[in-house]
This record gives sequence, C-alpha cells and structure tokens, in this order.
Amino acid sequence: MKSILFVFLLTASLLKAGEFYGETRILWGIPVTVTFYIKRENSPEKIANLCFLKLKEIGYKLNYYDPNSEISAINKNSGKRAVKVSKETYELIKKALAVSKMTKGAFDITVRPLFNLWDFKKKKIPSTQELIKAKEKVSYRSIVLDQITKSVFLTKEGMEIDVGGIVKGFMADICVDILKNSGAYAGMVAVGGDIKVFGKKKGNRLWKIGIRKPRGNGIVAFLEITDVAISTSGDYERFFVKEGKRYHHIIDPHTGFPAKGIRSVTVIAKEGALADALATALFVLGLKKAKSLPVEFVIVDSSGKVHISAGLRNKVFITAP
Ligand code: AMP
Ligand code: MG
Repeated sequence: MKSILFVFLLTASLLKAGEFYGETRILWGIPVTVTFYIKRENSPEKIANLCFLKLKEIGYKLNYYDPNSEISAINKNSGKRAVKVSKETYELIKKALAVSKMTKGAFDITVRPLFNLWDFKKKKIPSTQELIKAKEKVSYRSIVLDQITKSVFLTKEGMEIDVGGIVKGFMADICVDILKNSGAYAGMVAVGGDIKVFGKKKGNRLWKIGIRKPRGNGIVAFLEITDVAISTSGDYERFFVKEGKRYHHIIDPHTGFPAKGIRSVTVIAKEGALADALATALFVLGLKKAKSLPVEFVIVDSSGKVHISAGLRNKVFITAP
C-alpha cells in the first residue's frame, strides 16, 4: 500500500531524542507510524507497543479477507441472522452508516459485490449484466444494527460489507486516544495515508503535512495544523489503464464504475474515521456536491487543478500548480 501523504518527519523505523519518540511498523503491508512527545520516564517504547498491539487486535476483527474476522462472520450470515460483534466493530459500522446517510450512499460499505467484479491485476471490466445483478445486493439501508445486543444483520443474502474505506482513519483515532491517555502532549499517527495529529511540537510548532501529487512525484500542497485528522483518497492507489482509460478502486455505488472527475481528495475532520470515510465519499460525489457539504477538503480535479474549501484557505499552502 502506497502512502498517500508525505509526512515531514524523520520517522525512520525507530527514533528517540529527548522527549520525542517515533516508530514505524508494517501491519497488513501498510506502514503505520506512531510519533509522540512525552516525558522519558513514561516508557514511550511500551506506549508505542500498546498502540501497535491494539491495532493488530482490531485489525483481525475487521479484516474482510480473514475468514475468522467479525466482518466475515457478518458477511457469511447475510440474509440469515444477526451477528453479535465487539464494541469497536459495532461503533465503526455505525460511523460508516452515518457517513452513508450524510452522503446519500456515495460512501457505502456494502459496495463490495460491485467492487469484486473488478480485477485490477487482470484489468477486468465487468459487464452491465454483472453490475446490475450485483447492485441488488448493495445498499447501506439493508444493514440493521441493534444497539442493545451490539449485533449486525445484513438483510439480503449475498450482501457483504468491507470497511476498507474507513478503517485506517478509525485506527488513527484509537491510537491517538492511547497516546493521549498515556501522557503524550503532542503526537502524530499515520496508518498508511490516514493521519491524525494532536498538540504542538517543541517551540509551539504545528504539524506540517504534505499532500501528494496525484501524478508524478512531490507534493501539490502542504498544511500546518494540529488537533485534526487528515485523509486522502486517490485514483493512483489501486488502478489499471485499459485503452487509455484509468480504472481505479473507488467505486460509485450507484453505477458500479470507478468515480470520475477527481484525482485526489484530502479531507480534514476532527475524527479520523470521519475524515477517511468522507475522503472516499467526496471522491464519489465530485467537486460540486462536495462544496454543498459542511466538509473541509483539498481536491485535485481530473485536470490537475487544486480546489480548497473556504475554511482551509489560510491553512493550505499550494506548492505546485
Ligand atoms: P480509501 O482508500 O479510503 O478511499 O478506500 C478505498 C477502499 O474502500 C476500496 O479499496 C474499497 O475497498 C472501498 N470502497 C471503494 N468504493 C467505496 C465506496 N463508494 N464506499 C465505501 N467504500 C468503498
Ligand atoms: Mg477513505
């Protein structure tokens, strides 16, 4: 998994200096970086380890590809019965549904039957018939949650959920909570390209985060911020080109085709899960609809033009046209 945002930090695999601690580990093929400032006597190594262990634990529960995960248990029982899940899985699905409602289904964790028709290695484009058939199984409205029993029911047989579009931001939230509760006074967690920052660095400095150019190398812009989450969705992460056309991994649940008009969307929000899901959602919605939502974004459109939402204009610095 390619990292989406470049982070202006010297986070090699392990770094310690004074009250600063940084460590990167690869989890599920994704680089996860935990960086924070804390008094040395608080054993930063142990705190970082706690983060990684927690992420591994929830990662097992939420992995679509693991037959023993809670997500697989929900999917295997679609059309049959409700499945009781852990608090984390339940909360994540609830957050995903809130974004589905807010974006009228542009973000939809039931999109998997459509997604599975695309083969990014074999460059397979599904037929219209295949898409029509799969679409019957796609709707967030067919997810039934029970708050009391913490159970999830997919009402149609063959339905499947996949939290790939929201889970990395959610993990950044969980890790930041651990760091804060352990006494860190500033920090940054990056799960792939889904980032969350808090507090200020030595010298009252903010965190400087770059947004990658969707084509070529380098960055299009950078932000100086804190106490927010930043997520980017891009058409360059997983894609194939056939007859000059690019087909990527962000699927419009209404058409079954990769969303058009945008190269990358970066969303800034208070919560990582929200930033992650909204970045995927805005990619599907397109620039015009993105502007109608109360969301702060940086969008690079299909011609390479950078669009910045009103609330971010004094925080985002464009470095390349
Ligand atoms: P992200 O990189 O966060 O934009 O997430 C992309 C991943 O989310 C894809 O690899 C799919 O697994 C899944 N996905 C694709 N399209 C959607 C969508 N419209 N709503 C929710 N998840 C999606
Ligand atoms: Mg996302």
